[in-house]
Amino acid sequence: MIGITSYGAYIPRLRLNRMSIFQAMGWFAPAIIMVAQGERSMCNHDEDSLTMAVAAARDCLIGKDRDAVDAAYLCSTTLPFADRQNAGILATALNLRDDIATADFTSALKAGTTGLLAALDGVKAGSRGSVLVTATDKRETRPAYFYEMWFGDGAASLLVGDRDVIAEFVGSHSVSYDFVDHYRAAGRRFDYMWEERWLREEGYGKIIPEAVNGLLKKLNLSMKDVDRLVFPCFFKAEHRALAGKLGAGPEKVIDNMHEVCGETGAAHPLIMLVAALEQARPGDGILVAGFGQGCDALFFRVTDRIAQLAPRQGVRGSLENKKTIDNYMKFLKFRNLIDPEMGIRAEAPTQTAMTTLWRKRKMLTGLVGGICRDCGTHQYPRMDICVNPACGHVGSQDDYAFADRPAKVMTFTGDLLAVSVDPPAIYGMIQFEGGGRFLADFTDCELNDLKVGMPVRLSFRRKITDDERGFSGYFWKAVPQPGAAGRADEIRFDGRVAIVTGAGAGLGRTYALELARRGARVVVNDFGGARDGAGQGSSSPADRVVQEIRDAGGEAAANYDSVATPEGGEGILRTALKAFGRVDILINNAGILRDKGFLKMEPENWRAVLDVHLNGAYHVTRPAFAAMREGGYGRIVMTTSAAGLYGNFGQTNYSAAKMALVGLMNTVRLEGQKYNIKVNTIAPVAASRLTEDVMPPDLFEKLKPDYVAGIVVYLCSEVCGESGAVFNAAAGYYSRAAILTGPGVTLGDGKIPPTPEDIRDHWAQIGSMEGARELGDANAAIVSFMTPPQAADSGKAEEGKAGPTVAEIFARMPEVFNPEKAAGKDLVFQFCISGPGGGDWFVTVREGACRVEAGKAEKPTTTIRMADEDFVQLIQGRLDGMQAFSTGKLKVEGDIMKSQLIGKLFTFKG
Ligand code: NAD
Repeated sequence: MIGITSYGAYIPRLRLNRMSIFQAMGWFAPAIIMVAQGERSMCNHDEDSLTMAVAAARDCLIGKDRDAVDAAYLCSTTLPFADRQNAGILATALNLRDDIATADFTSALKAGTTGLLAALDGVKAGSRGSVLVTATDKRETRPAYFYEMWFGDGAASLLVGDRDVIAEFVGSHSVSYDFVDHYRAAGRRFDYMWEERWLREEGYGKIIPEAVNGLLKKLNLSMKDVDRLVFPCFFKAEHRALAGKLGAGPEKVIDNMHEVCGETGAAHPLIMLVAALEQARPGDGILVAGFGQGCDALFFRVTDRIAQLAPRQGVRGSLENKKTIDNYMKFLKFRNLIDPEMGIRAEAPTQTAMTTLWRKRKMLTGLVGGICRDCGTHQYPRMDICVNPACGHVGSQDDYAFADRPAKVMTFTGDLLAVSVDPPAIYGMIQFEGGGRFLADFTDCELNDLKVGMPVRLSFRRKITDDERGFSGYFWKAVPQPGAAGRADEIRFDGRVAIVTGAGAGLGRTYALELARRGARVVVNDFGGARDGAGQGSSSPADRVVQEIRDAGGEAAANYDSVATPEGGEGILRTALKAFGRVDILINNAGILRDKGFLKMEPENWRAVLDVHLNGAYHVTRPAFAAMREGGYGRIVMTTSAAGLYGNFGQTNYSAAKMALVGLMNTVRLEGQKYNIKVNTIAPVAASRLTEDVMPPDLFEKLKPDYVAGIVVYLCSEVCGESGAVFNAAAGYYSRAAILTGPGVTLGDGKIPPTPEDIRDHWAQIGSMEGARELGDANAAIVSFMTPPQAADSGKAEEGKAGPTVAEIFARMPEVFNPEKAAGKDLVFQFCISGPGGGDWFVTVREGACRVEAGKAEKPTTTIRMADEDFVQLIQGRLDGMQAFSTGKLKVEGDIMKSQLIGKLFTFKG
């Protein structure tokens, strides 16, 4: 089967109130009042047909593998370049493969449907597996013309292929005539229009019916087989009348969007087709006709797969995201139809070096930066040296595409002095999630809309217009996400994808609803078995919650796999990636109970509980971790229980599984820290199916899952920096639970192992929890075991066996100094070491010598701040410098690069 496999659309955010055209120009052209209703879409000053095409194509490619695209066709009558392939710029901006075919389809309004036909033919012939077809137009008219009212700007994109087809291609019929209702001569800016009656009666009125009826005849179909009829015609009454003439009632006709957008030229049949697909049900027949020097008519049959397409902006979302303006002068300036004085600053040279553009095409057009293979640091632009001062590796960068990564505003300013078509020029620093930042222009917003911390999306825009040489230069700008302004302080999950296992009921359902309410797209997993996990499972619990989320305006996809098998875990991930293209959040929540006294705990009940709770978390977390690592971001929540943390009669299986999850978290935390993956564990108490028979009814009432959802949702958010912690949550009570280690004691002389009697005699010291503390990881634990306080009676002989103190390290520094590495160096390192063993020291390296002094230096080159224990570990080689830096244990101020010399100037080990 071949056909459409995905769709996307883009209509610019700005809409011009048509009445504002009349208000400004009605004195001159009073007749335009007749069509001055509603609004038309208009490009921002930095948008054109190419930028709109990129936006529509990105929408279309959501959840699709870009590497699978074999060809990209761009269809338009208003392409920015007459001789430089515009489809090639599109393909570079989208980071498509280099070995694909690209083509521009142009010079007729039916270019969109013609491009679509060529794509379908290519797939049908077997020469291409997947073709991206994008149609776009931004047509200009002289001011105060009827067509200025009728036209709008927009783009639509379709992916055509032979896999996962959402609308099967049934057939087509084309007619081609040199029929001229309007034309635009080469090099001219505006169309020359013949009388409208000519277009209405001889054009639309005859040529569209010929193509449509020809197609129906060819396919042996009638208008009864058509559920949605798509054809452009910007005269409202004529549109309806023509549909009637073709035998289609008003319920079948897709709106021509005159009131809300206007006619978007070559893009319009495809934009209307996307609108039709958005409303379509499986089995629907869609007939689309593209008019212009003839007509192409195509017939599609919608398949079941349409329901599985990942959510996207489409036509519906584009129309909702709008800002209506009444300022007609702005419209004229944005389209360069008036030429106000821009000042001397605007005369700055804008020539683009084609050499640089070619060599840096991925960086400039595709927004591709780098990721360090060794330390995982992201950077833009990509360079030969990793920017992480603790890494600095050379040649360690792989490509990293930034355009689709979520980002946030770090700083911004409105600049009235900088040249801008829409002052003030707004620009500032944006921070990408997972790392990387750059100074970006902000667009599609007012200064008042912006707030620090607000989520932004990158958008491909025109950056420079070189009028002298007729060149447009493109780059990426930041656009605040729709509706983000009013909720900068709210914890949001816009753009995030969450998986909640066991979300068909109880706590999981509450988490899923709350995440979706805050903008996350949620995979609702539930096997739907009995309380003890028995039965064949059921799709109803997951489906019900998905419906609840959708009814509330959210986005969700159902999954019915059991977490108890590796295939189930993979299946859950597949659902997330297919539906939403990424995974940011995972809540391992699915659970069952099989309570029995320990002696009655048969292996099957033991295993069933471990399979769901412990193995289940492993099965889902492992593939999710891989996807999160790829995205440089992740939040995972495990679910333990008081039964595991503290024990509970009759629940040996459950307690063992629940406590094992804490162990799983401890190590996932360490392995995830480099990729910004944080993992925590919740120990909830809540009213649910699992607890209904063990809780008294009045308590059951007070323990609504909503009291647990708040902390779980917080742990899933990017504002939460916690990782590796366990939290109790019940009825509004929250606390942290942790594994603490007492100070302990070292017995004996290190030559003869202590005897049981020695142990008995020091039992109080061994068991003491006075001064107990948490230990960062197993290495920290071993270090602390090797350097504990000495037994009160173990005598002076034991002194000196503990690790060096901070003061001793500084005292030894001149001894471990490498003068040969210090030639020509003139540096002052200031060390500020916190904690009981800390203090301030500074080390001067000058003329091949080193001097260590206590206190603060006047002008240190580099200042290093650390806690005393971390510092000792670092010097002993037990704490990795890069890890210490990336986890905040090591803070460097001043000249960061110079801090890397410390390891060369001083040899502490050996
Ligand atoms: P619940 O029974 O209401 O929800 C658990 C959900 O998990 C059910 O919808 C069930 O169908 C689903 N599920 C079971 N096995 C599955 C599998 N193999 N694959 C996918 N889904 C599966 O229970 P709840 O109280 O909301 O429990 C949620 C989690 O919280 C569990 O892990 C539970 O152990 C834990 N917990 C709950 C409490 C409490 O007081 N409710 C206390 C401590 C821990």
